[in-house]
Amino acid sequence: MVVVGGGVAGLQAALVLGRARRSVTVVDGGEPRNARARAVHNLAGHEGIAPADLLDRARADARRYGVRIVTGTVTEARREGPDLVVAVGGGGTVRAGALVLATGVAEDLPQVEGLAELWGGDVVSCPYCHGWEAQGLPVAVVGSGARAWLQLLLLQRFTDDLVLLSDGPAELDAARLAHLRRTSVTVREDPIARVVADRGRLTGVEFADGELLPRGVLFASATRRPASALPAALGCDVVDAGVTTDADGFTGVPGVWAVGSCAQPALTVAGSVGHATTTAIALNTALITASFTASITGV
Ligand SMILES: Cc1cc2nc3c(=O)[nH]c(=O)nc-3n(C[C@H](O)[C@H](O)[C@H](O)COP(=O)(O)OP(=O)(O)OC[C@H]3O[C@@H](n4cnc5c(N)ncnc54)[C@H](O)[C@@H]3O)c2cc1C
Repeated sequence: MVVVGGGVAGLQAALVLGRARRSVTVVDGGEPRNARARAVHNLAGHEGIAPADLLDRARADARRYGVRIVTGTVTEARREGPDLVVAVGGGGTVRAGALVLATGVAEDLPQVEGLAELWGGDVVSCPYCHGWEAQGLPVAVVGSGARAWLQLLLLQRFTDDLVLLSDGPAELDAARLAHLRRTSVTVREDPIARVVADRGRLTGVEFADGELLPRGVLFASATRRPASALPAALGCDVVDAGVTTDADGFTGVPGVWAVGSCAQPALTVAGSVGHATTTAIALNTALITASFTASITGV
């Protein structure tokens, strides 16, 4: 079988399937979403590991059980009889009885000059992943509406110096704005000119009128979209950046399963690993059951 995507979810699915003595090829484009993060947090047993080191270990673990890992981007997969034929960009195809999508999600950041350059370092998104490291620092949430509101509530547990920079209307109702005022969170709706950095470290945020607001960390309200067009091209239903599956990770497209954040975009690393494990077990069970049924019915 072929696993498309070799982030934590794809490699975990490959590990489980390899240990179940399946023949597994992982095709990976090499762009995991957290590649630019300094460390992976909230992962028991590997707390604080560098993202690249975690994937190095995961690849080595999978290879011990015969998993083949190929670098490349899957551009197309088509059905030929009982098989799926997977085309890898730059030439070459891989034939598989089942396909596991582990393509992840991509993030669109607020359009502010200088912000994307610091992504994964002093600009992050998830307070659970990076709130601890922001303790006591001057922090700003860059965004508006419901997502920014939740980030603010979470971040109040880590710092007393918290500002909402909405670069336009904050899109919060009167009750929420009153709560922020009561709890000393400043709301700045004035236009942002750019994010200012010195040697790769955040200095602050400059407004259009030239004022510089010193900040140590920015939490950006990013929006998610599918990282790959492949799931939709295969006929999978994609809603809010996630591939729709049943509780077992089956997409409804014959032979196609989905694991990790490509199926559930909000999943963390540990969550992606867990989802990939249960899906790989369900896939292997489905194959064993189908094989038994075929042996007694002849179809
Ligand atoms: C800045 C940042 C920091 C984060 N920090 C944390 C943290 O501290 N703790 C935590 O739990 N979570 C963190 N996360 C979330 C974490 O990155 C995700 O939960 C995790 O990466 C999901 O794993 P995944 O395997 O589903 O997807 P990904 O890790 O994104 O892997 C998907 C892989 O599929 C490949 N791919 C996509 N399309 C194709 C294709 N067509 N063909 C071949 N390959 C393809 C990509 O190149 C990529 O290698 C962070 C996210 C960001 C953005």
